Amino acid sequence: MDSAVASNQVGDGNQRGEADGAPLRTIAHIDLDAFFVSVELQRRPDLKGLPVIVSGSGPRSVVTTASYEARRHGVGSAMPAAKALRLCPDAVVIEPDSHRYREASRAVMAVIHHQIDEVEQAGLDEAYIDLTGLSSPIATMRTIVREIEEQTGLHASVGIGPNKLVAKVASDAEKPRGFVVISREQACEWFADRPCGLIPGIGPKTVERLRVLRIESIAQLAGADEQQLWEAFGERQGSILKSRAAFIDGSPVVSNREAVSESRETTFDTDLSDRTELLERLAGLSADLCSALRRHGHQGRTIGIKIRYANFETHTRARTLSALTSDQATVTRVARELFEEFDPQHPVRLIGVRVAGFQTPEAASGQMSLPLS
Ligand SMILES: [Mg+2]
Repeated sequence: MDSAVASNQVGDGNQRGEADGAPLRTIAHIDLDAFFVSVELQRRPDLKGLPVIVSGSGPRSVVTTASYEARRHGVGSAMPAAKALRLCPDAVVIEPDSHRYREASRAVMAVIHHQIDEVEQAGLDEAYIDLTGLSSPIATMRTIVREIEEQTGLHASVGIGPNKLVAKVASDAEKPRGFVVISREQACEWFADRPCGLIPGIGPKTVERLRVLRIESIAQLAGADEQQLWEAFGERQGSILKSRAAFIDGSPVVSNREAVSESRETTFDTDLSDRTELLERLAGLSADLCSALRRHGHQGRTIGIKIRYANFETHTRARTLSALTSDQATVTRVARELFEEFDPQHPVRLIGVRVAGFQTPEAASGQMSLPLS
Protein backbone atom coordinates (compact mmCIF):
# COMPACT_ATOMS: atom_id res chain seq x y z
CA MET A 1 0.00 0.00 0.00
CA ASP A 2 1.71 3.13 -1.19
CA SER A 3 1.04 6.46 0.34
CA ALA A 4 2.42 9.20 -1.83
CA VAL A 5 2.31 12.32 0.26
CA ALA A 6 2.25 15.38 -1.92
CA SER A 7 3.43 13.43 -4.91
CA ASN A 8 0.88 15.24 -7.01
CA GLN A 9 2.60 18.52 -6.16
CA VAL A 10 6.07 17.23 -6.82
CA GLY A 11 5.74 15.34 -10.06
CA ASP A 12 8.35 13.35 -11.88
CA GLY A 13 11.28 15.50 -12.90
CA ASN A 14 9.61 18.53 -11.41
CA GLN A 15 11.75 19.37 -8.42
CA ARG A 16 12.65 22.85 -9.59
CA GLY A 17 12.61 26.15 -7.82
CA GLU A 18 14.88 26.09 -4.76
CA ALA A 19 15.89 29.72 -4.51
CA ASP A 20 19.07 29.37 -2.48
CA GLY A 21 21.31 28.95 -5.51
CA ALA A 22 22.15 25.36 -4.62
CA PRO A 23 22.13 22.99 -7.56
CA LEU A 24 18.77 21.25 -7.83
CA ARG A 25 18.97 17.64 -6.82
CA THR A 26 16.61 14.71 -6.49
CA ILE A 27 17.70 12.26 -3.82
CA ALA A 28 15.99 9.08 -2.67
CA HIS A 29 16.51 7.17 0.55
CA ILE A 30 15.41 3.56 0.51
CA ASP A 31 15.10 1.58 3.73
CA LEU A 32 14.00 -2.03 4.05
CA ASP A 33 11.09 -2.60 6.41
CA ALA A 34 11.91 -4.53 9.60
CA PHE A 35 14.83 -6.00 7.71
CA PHE A 36 16.16 -8.72 10.02
CA VAL A 37 12.68 -9.87 10.99
CA SER A 38 11.59 -9.97 7.36
CA VAL A 39 14.58 -12.12 6.41
CA GLU A 40 13.78 -14.48 9.31
CA LEU A 41 10.11 -14.72 8.32
CA GLN A 42 11.15 -16.01 4.91
CA ARG A 43 12.32 -19.24 6.50
CA ARG A 44 9.72 -19.17 9.28
CA PRO A 45 6.53 -18.13 7.43
CA ASP A 46 4.52 -19.65 10.29
CA LEU A 47 5.54 -16.63 12.39
CA LYS A 48 3.96 -14.09 10.03
CA GLY A 49 1.55 -11.78 11.83
CA LEU A 50 3.06 -12.56 15.23
CA PRO A 51 5.18 -10.29 17.38
CA VAL A 52 8.76 -11.28 16.51
CA ILE A 53 11.96 -9.88 17.98
CA VAL A 54 15.44 -10.50 16.64
CA SER A 55 17.86 -10.31 19.54
CA GLY A 56 20.50 -12.31 21.34
CA SER A 57 19.53 -14.31 24.41
CA GLY A 58 22.18 -13.07 26.87
CA PRO A 59 21.19 -10.90 29.84
CA ARG A 60 22.56 -7.77 28.14
CA SER A 61 21.07 -8.44 24.71
CA VAL A 62 19.27 -5.68 22.89
CA VAL A 63 16.58 -5.78 20.23
CA THR A 64 18.08 -5.44 16.74
CA THR A 65 14.73 -5.46 14.94
CA ALA A 66 11.14 -5.97 15.97
CA SER A 67 8.22 -6.90 13.73
CA TYR A 68 5.52 -4.27 13.39
CA GLU A 69 3.27 -6.46 15.55
CA ALA A 70 5.85 -6.26 18.36
CA ARG A 71 6.30 -2.52 17.83
CA ARG A 72 2.61 -2.05 18.56
CA HIS A 73 3.42 -3.15 22.12
CA GLY A 74 6.08 -0.45 22.37
CA VAL A 75 9.06 -2.63 21.49
CA GLY A 76 11.76 -0.77 19.59
CA SER A 77 15.27 -1.22 18.24
CA ALA A 78 18.15 -0.96 20.74
CA MET A 79 15.80 -1.70 23.65
CA PRO A 80 17.10 -4.27 26.16
CA ALA A 81 15.60 -7.65 25.26
CA ALA A 82 14.42 -8.13 28.85
CA LYS A 83 12.37 -4.94 28.70
CA ALA A 84 10.98 -5.89 25.29
CA LEU A 85 9.75 -9.19 26.73
CA ARG A 86 8.09 -7.41 29.65
CA LEU A 87 6.24 -5.19 27.18
CA CYS A 88 5.39 -8.05 24.88
CA PRO A 89 5.62 -11.39 26.75
CA ASP A 90 4.27 -13.38 23.77
CA ALA A 91 7.00 -12.23 21.42
CA VAL A 92 8.95 -14.90 19.57
CA VAL A 93 12.66 -14.23 20.02
CA ILE A 94 15.02 -15.18 17.19
CA GLU A 95 18.83 -15.11 17.39
CA PRO A 96 20.42 -12.81 14.79
CA ASP A 97 22.02 -14.51 11.80
CA SER A 98 24.30 -11.88 10.33
CA HIS A 99 25.45 -14.06 7.46
CA ARG A 100 21.90 -14.33 6.11
CA TYR A 101 21.33 -10.59 6.53
CA ARG A 102 24.48 -9.79 4.56
CA GLU A 103 23.40 -12.13 1.77
CA ALA A 104 19.96 -10.53 1.58
CA SER A 105 21.52 -7.07 1.69
CA ARG A 106 23.81 -7.91 -1.22
CA ALA A 107 20.85 -9.11 -3.28
CA VAL A 108 18.91 -5.90 -2.57
CA MET A 109 21.85 -3.64 -3.37
CA ALA A 110 22.44 -5.52 -6.63
CA VAL A 111 18.87 -4.72 -7.69
CA ILE A 112 19.44 -1.03 -6.94
CA HIS A 113 22.80 -0.92 -8.72
CA HIS A 114 21.22 -2.55 -11.72
CA GLN A 115 19.11 0.60 -12.16
CA ILE A 116 21.32 3.40 -10.83
CA ASP A 117 25.05 4.04 -10.55
CA GLU A 118 25.03 6.77 -7.94
CA VAL A 119 24.25 4.74 -4.83
CA GLU A 120 25.59 5.29 -1.34
CA GLN A 121 24.94 2.28 0.83
CA ALA A 122 24.39 3.62 4.33
CA GLY A 123 23.85 0.34 6.13
CA LEU A 124 22.88 -3.26 5.47
CA ASP A 125 19.31 -2.22 4.77
CA GLU A 126 19.47 1.36 3.54
CA ALA A 127 20.93 3.43 0.74
CA TYR A 128 20.85 6.93 -0.70
CA ILE A 129 20.29 7.13 -4.44
CA ASP A 130 21.07 10.22 -6.53
CA LEU A 131 18.27 10.57 -9.08
CA THR A 132 19.29 14.05 -10.22
CA GLY A 133 18.84 14.48 -13.95
CA LEU A 134 16.65 11.40 -14.42
CA SER A 135 13.55 12.13 -16.46
CA SER A 136 11.30 10.04 -14.21
CA PRO A 137 12.83 9.61 -10.75
CA ILE A 138 9.57 8.53 -9.09
CA ALA A 139 8.87 5.82 -11.65
CA THR A 140 12.47 4.64 -11.30
CA MET A 141 12.10 4.25 -7.54
CA ARG A 142 8.79 2.43 -7.91
CA THR A 143 10.50 0.03 -10.30
CA ILE A 144 13.33 -0.53 -7.83
CA VAL A 145 10.89 -1.25 -4.98
CA ARG A 146 8.93 -3.67 -7.16
CA GLU A 147 12.04 -5.49 -8.32
CA ILE A 148 13.36 -5.81 -4.77
CA GLU A 149 10.02 -7.40 -3.82
CA GLU A 150 10.03 -9.73 -6.80
CA GLN A 151 13.63 -10.80 -6.49
CA THR A 152 14.09 -10.95 -2.71
CA GLY A 153 10.60 -10.94 -1.23
CA LEU A 154 11.55 -7.97 0.95
CA HIS A 155 9.62 -4.73 1.29
CA ALA A 156 11.12 -1.28 1.40
CA SER A 157 10.08 2.27 2.19
CA VAL A 158 11.21 5.19 0.08
CA GLY A 159 11.60 8.91 0.65
CA ILE A 160 12.34 11.27 -2.24
CA GLY A 161 13.37 14.88 -1.74
CA PRO A 162 15.86 17.59 -2.68
CA ASN A 163 18.57 16.32 -0.31
CA LYS A 164 19.63 13.35 1.81
CA LEU A 165 18.12 14.71 5.02
CA VAL A 166 14.63 15.20 3.56
CA ALA A 167 14.83 11.82 1.84
CA LYS A 168 15.88 10.02 5.02
CA VAL A 169 13.17 11.50 7.22
CA ALA A 170 10.58 10.96 4.49
CA SER A 171 11.47 7.28 4.07
CA ASP A 172 10.81 6.75 7.76
CA ALA A 173 7.57 8.72 7.90
CA GLU A 174 5.11 6.14 6.60
CA LYS A 175 6.73 2.79 7.23
CA PRO A 176 6.11 0.03 6.31
CA ARG A 177 5.93 0.21 2.50
CA GLY A 178 5.89 4.00 2.55
CA PHE A 179 6.52 6.02 -0.57
CA VAL A 180 6.84 9.69 0.25
CA VAL A 181 7.81 12.42 -2.19
CA ILE A 182 8.26 15.77 -0.54
CA SER A 183 9.97 19.14 -1.03
CA ARG A 184 12.08 20.82 1.63
CA GLU A 185 9.33 23.34 2.39
CA GLN A 186 6.75 20.57 2.72
CA ALA A 187 9.07 18.69 5.07
CA CYS A 188 9.33 21.80 7.28
CA GLU A 189 5.54 22.00 7.45
CA TRP A 190 4.81 18.32 7.81
CA PHE A 191 7.32 17.65 10.58
CA ALA A 192 6.98 21.06 12.28
CA ASP A 193 5.47 19.69 15.50
CA ARG A 194 7.59 16.55 15.67
CA PRO A 195 10.39 16.30 18.26
CA CYS A 196 13.90 17.46 17.31
CA GLY A 197 15.17 13.91 17.81
CA LEU A 198 13.42 12.92 14.60
CA ILE A 199 16.25 14.63 12.70
CA PRO A 200 19.13 12.23 12.05
CA GLY A 201 22.20 13.38 13.95
CA ILE A 202 20.21 14.96 16.79
CA GLY A 203 20.64 12.40 19.55
CA PRO A 204 19.10 12.13 23.02
CA LYS A 205 21.78 14.27 24.68
CA THR A 206 21.26 17.13 22.24
CA VAL A 207 17.48 16.76 22.62
CA GLU A 208 17.93 17.12 26.38
CA ARG A 209 20.09 20.23 26.02
CA LEU A 210 17.58 21.75 23.60
CA ARG A 211 14.76 21.06 26.04
CA VAL A 212 16.58 23.15 28.64
CA LEU A 213 16.36 26.01 26.12
CA ARG A 214 12.62 25.25 25.76
CA ILE A 215 13.16 24.02 22.22
CA GLU A 216 11.26 20.78 21.69
CA SER A 217 9.82 20.72 18.19
CA ILE A 218 11.56 20.86 14.83
CA ALA A 219 9.81 24.15 14.02
CA GLN A 220 10.98 25.65 17.30
CA LEU A 221 14.55 24.67 16.50
CA ALA A 222 14.33 25.98 12.93
CA GLY A 223 13.02 29.28 14.26
CA ALA A 224 15.31 29.48 17.30
CA ASP A 225 17.46 32.49 18.00
CA GLU A 226 20.82 31.69 16.41
CA GLN A 227 22.72 33.61 19.09
CA GLN A 228 21.10 31.46 21.78
CA LEU A 229 22.08 28.27 19.93
CA TRP A 230 25.64 29.54 19.46
CA GLU A 231 25.93 30.19 23.18
CA ALA A 232 24.67 26.74 24.07
CA PHE A 233 26.35 24.65 21.36
CA GLY A 234 29.09 26.80 19.81
CA GLU A 235 28.76 28.62 16.51
CA ARG A 236 29.42 25.70 14.21
CA GLN A 237 27.21 23.16 15.94
CA GLY A 238 24.51 25.74 16.70
CA SER A 239 24.23 26.74 13.06
CA ILE A 240 24.18 23.12 11.91
CA LEU A 241 21.33 22.31 14.30
CA LYS A 242 19.26 25.23 13.06
CA SER A 243 19.82 24.47 9.38
CA ARG A 244 19.10 20.77 9.80
CA ALA A 245 15.81 21.65 11.49
CA ALA A 246 15.06 23.61 8.31
CA PHE A 247 15.88 20.44 6.36
CA ILE A 248 18.86 22.08 4.64
CA ASP A 249 21.54 19.57 3.71
CA GLY A 250 24.17 19.94 1.01
CA SER A 251 25.97 16.66 1.59
CA PRO A 252 26.57 14.64 -1.57
CA VAL A 253 25.56 11.07 -2.30
CA VAL A 254 28.95 9.37 -2.21
CA SER A 255 28.82 6.42 -4.54
CA ASN A 256 30.50 3.44 -2.90
CA ARG A 257 30.93 1.68 -6.14
CA GLU A 258 32.87 4.11 -8.24
CA ALA A 259 35.53 4.94 -5.71
CA VAL A 260 38.82 3.33 -6.70
CA SER A 261 41.09 5.44 -4.55
CA GLU A 262 41.03 7.96 -1.77
CA SER A 263 43.66 10.49 -0.82
CA ARG A 264 44.52 13.26 1.60
CA GLU A 265 46.90 16.09 0.87
CA THR A 266 47.85 19.39 2.37
CA THR A 267 49.52 22.56 1.11
CA PHE A 268 51.76 24.31 3.61
CA ASP A 269 51.49 28.00 4.38
CA THR A 270 55.25 28.21 4.00
CA ASP A 271 57.36 25.63 2.20
CA LEU A 272 58.79 22.96 4.48
CA SER A 273 62.26 21.42 4.40
CA ASP A 274 62.41 19.82 7.82
CA ARG A 275 62.21 16.01 7.40
CA THR A 276 60.83 15.30 10.83
CA GLU A 277 58.05 17.79 10.35
CA LEU A 278 57.26 16.53 6.85
CA LEU A 279 57.08 12.96 8.14
CA GLU A 280 54.80 14.09 10.96
CA ARG A 281 52.45 15.77 8.52
CA LEU A 282 52.48 12.67 6.33
CA ALA A 283 51.62 10.50 9.34
CA GLY A 284 48.73 12.83 10.23
CA LEU A 285 47.36 12.64 6.69
CA SER A 286 47.69 8.85 6.74
CA ALA A 287 45.69 8.70 9.97
CA ASP A 288 42.91 10.87 8.49
CA LEU A 289 42.88 8.84 5.32
CA CYS A 290 42.69 5.50 7.10
CA SER A 291 39.83 6.55 9.32
CA ALA A 292 37.93 7.72 6.20
CA LEU A 293 38.70 4.42 4.47
CA ARG A 294 37.32 2.47 7.38
CA ARG A 295 34.25 4.70 7.54
CA HIS A 296 33.59 4.08 3.85
CA GLY A 297 34.40 0.38 4.08
CA HIS A 298 37.29 0.73 1.63
CA GLN A 299 40.55 -1.14 1.42
CA GLY A 300 43.26 -0.73 -1.17
CA ARG A 301 46.38 -2.47 -2.29
CA THR A 302 48.43 0.45 -3.60
CA ILE A 303 49.85 3.14 -1.34
CA GLY A 304 51.25 6.30 -2.88
CA ILE A 305 52.67 9.64 -1.89
CA LYS A 306 52.71 12.96 -3.70
CA ILE A 307 55.28 15.67 -3.18
CA ARG A 308 55.15 19.08 -4.80
CA TYR A 309 58.15 21.39 -4.60
CA ALA A 310 57.93 25.15 -4.22
CA ASN A 311 58.41 25.47 -7.99
CA PHE A 312 55.29 23.28 -8.52
CA GLU A 313 57.30 20.34 -9.81
CA THR A 314 55.22 17.35 -8.66
CA HIS A 315 56.43 13.83 -7.96
CA THR A 316 54.53 10.69 -7.06
CA ARG A 317 55.78 7.39 -5.75
CA ALA A 318 53.71 4.27 -5.11
CA ARG A 319 54.02 0.72 -3.94
CA THR A 320 51.57 -2.16 -4.35
CA LEU A 321 51.22 -4.56 -1.45
CA SER A 322 50.30 -8.22 -1.54
CA ALA A 323 47.17 -7.66 0.57
CA LEU A 324 44.39 -5.08 0.83
CA THR A 325 44.70 -2.65 3.68
CA SER A 326 43.12 0.30 5.43
CA ASP A 327 45.45 -0.17 8.39
CA GLN A 328 46.91 3.08 9.70
CA ALA A 329 50.24 1.59 10.82
CA THR A 330 50.77 -0.06 7.42
CA VAL A 331 49.82 3.02 5.38
CA THR A 332 51.95 5.29 7.57
CA ARG A 333 54.96 2.97 7.36
CA VAL A 334 54.81 2.54 3.58
CA ALA A 335 54.25 6.28 3.06
CA ARG A 336 57.31 7.00 5.22
CA GLU A 337 59.44 4.48 3.30
CA LEU A 338 58.37 6.00 -0.01
CA PHE A 339 59.21 9.45 1.31
CA GLU A 340 62.65 8.32 2.45
CA GLU A 341 63.37 6.59 -0.84
CA PHE A 342 62.29 9.65 -2.78
CA ASP A 343 64.40 11.86 -0.53
CA PRO A 344 63.18 15.37 -1.49
CA GLN A 345 65.98 17.76 -2.41
CA HIS A 346 64.02 21.03 -2.28
CA PRO A 347 61.57 22.73 0.05
CA VAL A 348 58.15 21.07 -0.14
CA ARG A 349 54.96 22.99 -0.88
CA LEU A 350 52.45 20.13 -0.78
CA ILE A 351 52.47 16.59 0.53
CA GLY A 352 49.84 13.90 0.09
CA VAL A 353 49.09 10.23 0.61
CA ARG A 354 46.81 7.96 -1.39
CA VAL A 355 45.42 4.45 -1.11
CA ALA A 356 44.27 3.03 -4.45
CA GLY A 357 43.17 -0.24 -6.01
CA PHE A 358 40.03 -0.57 -3.90
CA GLN A 359 38.32 -3.86 -3.70
CA THR A 360 35.74 -5.06 -1.27
CA PRO A 361 37.06 -7.77 1.09
CA GLU A 362 34.32 -10.11 -0.21
CA ALA A 363 35.41 -9.63 -3.82
CA ALA A 364 39.02 -10.17 -2.83
CA SER A 365 38.35 -13.41 -0.97
CA GLY A 366 36.14 -14.57 -3.85
CA GLN A 367 39.01 -14.10 -6.26
CA MET A 368 41.50 -15.79 -4.01
CA SER A 369 39.28 -18.83 -3.64
CA LEU A 370 39.14 -19.37 -7.40
CA PRO A 371 42.40 -21.31 -7.77
CA LEU A 372 41.27 -23.69 -5.03
CA SER A 373 38.01 -24.63 -6.68
MG1 LIG B 1 15.26 -0.55 7.86
